[in-house]
Amino acid sequence: MQILLDRIRKDGVVKAGNVLKVDRFLNHQMDIGLFKEIGKEFKRRFEGTEINKILTIEASGIGIACIVAEYFDVPVVFAKKTKTKNIAGDVYTTKVESFTHGTVYDIIVSKEFLGEGDKVLVIDDFLANGKALEGLTALIKDSGAELAGAGIVIEKGFQEGGKRIRENGIRLESLAIVDSMDDKTGEIVFRNE
Ligand code: 5GP
Repeated sequence: MQILLDRIRKDGVVKAGNVLKVDRFLNHQMDIGLFKEIGKEFKRRFEGTEINKILTIEASGIGIACIVAEYFDVPVVFAKKTKTKNIAGDVYTTKVESFTHGTVYDIIVSKEFLGEGDKVLVIDDFLANGKALEGLTALIKDSGAELAGAGIVIEKGFQEGGKRIRENGIRLESLAIVDSMDDKTGEIVFRNE
């Protein structure tokens, strides 16, 4: 998706520790015109796939998922991050290791909003080591819902998540795949460009 690649090059900032900051258009300030193009592209890529729900994770996935959902005309559910120790039995829950913060947290989704008969598209902003996506797929599995696929805006292809998830047979569509980036020069190399 060339406009996304161009925007990452123009406004993305490569930080030390393999972190790409895209706060100017995706993670803090949000460019809704670009989000609409992202929504259209996911719709095109998943054309013909039955999807009746979008699942994402707070916080930065929510804005994108909402715009994407406009094109699929389905509701969005977001997994909540929680520090609560005693989680009641009316939720699905699993642990996720955070790439950006280096901590482990619990995510929950109410049983009311995910279950048998749901065909779920997972949407998230980044894919790095794949922990967030694997957490979400675990909740889908626990609930008896079906994973239709995953749509990622930026995959860091030099980290292991994408490879492992594809090897597990999950349909994964990433709109930009970064094969390498250099925090000294700011250079970003995309796959298939
Ligand atoms: P994973 O679980 O795949 O290791 O990491 C995915 C999550 O970490 C995403 O939901 C995203 O919020 C965050 N993340 C991972 N890498 C980056 C990055 O390079 N930049 C930003 N802004 N967020 C990232």
